[in-house]
Amino acid sequence: MKRRDFLKASAAVAATATLTGCTREQIEGKKSLNINRRRKAKLKIATSWPAHFPIMGTGIERFAKKVHEMSGGSLEIKIYPKNILVPALAVFDATSSGQIDGFHSGPYYWKGKNPAFALFSGAPLKMVADELCCWMNHGSGYELWRELYARYNLYPFIGGNTGVQMGGWFRKPIDSLEDLKGLKMRIPGLGGEVMAKLGVNPILLPAGEIYTALERGTIDATEWVGPALDIRMGFYKVAKYYYTGWHEPGSILELTFNKARYEKLSEEHKAIIKYASEAMTTEMYHEFMHENALALRKLESMGIEIRDFSPEIIEAAKRAMKEVAGEQSEKSEDFKKVFDSMQSYYTLIKPWTQISETRLCSIR
Ligand code: CA
Repeated sequence: MKRRDFLKASAAVAATATLTGCTREQIEGKKSLNINRRRKAKLKIATSWPAHFPIMGTGIERFAKKVHEMSGGSLEIKIYPKNILVPALAVFDATSSGQIDGFHSGPYYWKGKNPAFALFSGAPLKMVADELCCWMNHGSGYELWRELYARYNLYPFIGGNTGVQMGGWFRKPIDSLEDLKGLKMRIPGLGGEVMAKLGVNPILLPAGEIYTALERGTIDATEWVGPALDIRMGFYKVAKYYYTGWHEPGSILELTFNKARYEKLSEEHKAIIKYASEAMTTEMYHEFMHENALALRKLESMGIEIRDFSPEIIEAAKRAMKEVAGEQSEKSEDFKKVFDSMQSYYTLIKPWTQISETRLCSIR
């Protein structure tokens, strides 16, 4: 802007300020708000959950509401529960192709496309929710995730975290490695691969079929999430032994956008998405903790036995995890790159977690 024009514009703002009784800042603020209002955007987000699914579904619905409020209505996000626009597990491809603008789901569902994607959910016996968030934001987590997803024209954000997941429901007690041999268990992801090395036969079943399979003995065990969601599935009615977790130490959920579509958004809308998704992640994580605590109390009052896997089983699982990671790293350069980054961040953060939270939790 030339000096003459600048002076003219300044004089005009000053005159308006005098006439309206507003300060210069208020007038300029209103101007930029008006610009935002003119740039309206609408996004269609599909999820892998049914409508109003506790914590995950309600969390993403609240996110859309927040975005609406924060943007003064200029950014509208419509949430489509699973199977309304696209099937639950077709959301990745539908967003990649631009059929929809984004999805809310979990990265480990896409390990068939690239084994490294499973790691963005976390890895068995490794980092917990907060540590994973640190790796994403302060290590190279986000950088790697966005680099690999860019190949699919996708741009991911963390979209929640379940916290530590429970080890699962078993129809009979598991005391030794021998008890695991030949066991049929519903367990997906890297946890399933580790279990396979311990002689378990890991089975994939859609949510709606797990209870009946467990009741009829088609499967001997199942993991799901944690007390809050497991109690709603009714597993306690057909399996008495509930084991503490190791295979999903803090599963990251994702809110992922079509990259080209995301890049076309205004800087204000991008910032709103960033901060609203961070708020969603924290809220969801805390809601899981709170609801898990309530459900645990209820399960214990019903006489459900909470058990730890024996040190022998945990040590064998650690060895198996090492083997699984080694084999996957040989097969996939991407897996190796992401796993090595996680592992090096884990060795940095673990000593601090040990002398801070772990220590305090053991003495308080
Ligand atoms: Ca699970």
